[in-house]
Amino acid sequence: MKKDICAYTYEQLESEMQAFGEPKFRARQIYEWLHGKLVEDFSEMRNIPKNLQDRLRESYVILPVTMIERQESRLDGTMKFLFGLHDGNMVESVLMRYHHGNSVCISSQAGCRMGCRFCASGIGGLKRNLSASEMLGQVYQIQKITGERVSNVVVMGTGEPLDNYRNLLLFLKILSGEHGLNISQRSITVSTCGIVPKIYELAKEHLQITLALSLHGATQEKRRELMPVADAYGLEEVLNACDSYFQETGRRMTFEYSLIHGVNDTEKDIQDLTAILKPRNCHLNLIPVNSVKERNFTRPASKNAQNFKNKLEKSGINVTIRREMGADIDGACGQLRRRYLQD
Ligand code: SAH
Repeated sequence: MKKDICAYTYEQLESEMQAFGEPKFRARQIYEWLHGKLVEDFSEMRNIPKNLQDRLRESYVILPVTMIERQESRLDGTMKFLFGLHDGNMVESVLMRYHHGNSVCISSQAGCRMGCRFCASGIGGLKRNLSASEMLGQVYQIQKITGERVSNVVVMGTGEPLDNYRNLLLFLKILSGEHGLNISQRSITVSTCGIVPKIYELAKEHLQITLALSLHGATQEKRRELMPVADAYGLEEVLNACDSYFQETGRRMTFEYSLIHGVNDTEKDIQDLTAILKPRNCHLNLIPVNSVKERNFTRPASKNAQNFKNKLEKSGINVTIRREMGADIDGACGQLRRRYLQD
């Protein structure tokens, strides 16, 4: 079987090429073609001799993701992409254009097995993990298709990144490596539902990425109602793991909280949130829930959401409401892919 040449770090590709009987500088050239100039075929590697291109093709594949559909928001230029993988699976990615640069949201798995009650991505379960190169491919394709530099990457699309830990780590290293797109680790955010042992492992890597924890409930009971993963890892355990992430990396945690009308937007929720977040150096991001056809949740009225935020702010919490982007293009996470799966 041919090997996936995009899934090696720079150092790994060097040893791979040495074993292939090639000098070290070839690894640099090939790596730059793959991760800097984003080519999709060995024949595009102009400084690689033809016979070496042919030998590479015999042993390795470049497996790009391919665009199936693109939607562009008329409101703010946000673009949503549906990409096909080599085995027929599909994933969604989103490009958001901000003043400070272009931010890409990628998927880490085809489907998801976490089953959060309000989320569309988990409805069909997990199909499979994405390889590091399939995660990179989403960023690369978006940069190539738009011709615009990607400056921020968030792993907040479909899937639980810490449930695909090894590939995620490889992806992060290649994405932020100096011979590739060289995206600053501080401009990369990974969002997790709270897989505790993996949070500890990630902390030990001492990367400078931001870790976002999907909280959604400020007590163990409330969280369990919304997120089955809370049965495996209790709230206290999760918060301890987040504290360790902050201690090990010096990176302030972000907590995400999908605001759901009548479920987690009461006065009591404000008190509970304050109790757990006040002692911590962190940021809270409120996301008015996107309604999902198959799910029965609605967002609070915008003045109530604003009220919720103001009260938290008054009690000393560093909090924002996430600005909604691309409201006119298949709203919630995972819905573009779902539409295709049902067709
Ligand atoms: N599995 C990871 C990343 C995926 S989703 C995680 O759980 O963090 C990124 C964020 O969007 C998570 O906080 C997730 O809970 C939230 N989310 C999922 N569906 C949503 C919806 N319908 N409305 C609002 N936020 C949603």
